[in-house]
Amino acid sequence: MAEQVLAAVRTGPGTTEMREFPMPDIGDDAALLKIEVAGICGTDVKLYRRPTIDEPVIMGHENVGIVAKAGATWSEIHGLHEGDRIFVEHYVGCMHCGWCRLGEYRHCELTDWRTNHDARRYGYTS
Ligand SMILES: [Zn+2]
Ligand SMILES: [Zn+2]
Repeated sequence: MAEQVLAAVRTGPGTTEMREFPMPDIGDDAALLKIEVAGICGTDVKLYRRPTIDEPVIMGHENVGIVAKAGATWSEIHGLHEGDRIFVEHYVGCMHCGWCRLGEYRHCELTDWRTNHDARRYGYTS
């Protein structure tokens, strides 16, 4: 059986379930973070009580952890390696649009879960 990972998943308003997932495959340009601490802010409290999307979400968007696996290209791009402790920005911008090129990835269409059903934002999207 493939290695499994455990996560607390918001499955509905005010409801959390512990679920197992297959250990993700890590591509050459990706990394896997083992979360040590997940901060909880006011946004988490609001979204826990009244989720804005119906899909299950692993909450927590202010995460610190250890790089558990790192692809070679990812390490080269970011100057980071397995075993490094990092803080993760929760906005996952496309890095190609005008906003991202200006470093203003918070405005990238790909991060806005309110207007884009396919948005990617750690702790907010499924
Ligand atoms: Zn926050
Ligand atoms: Zn973008």
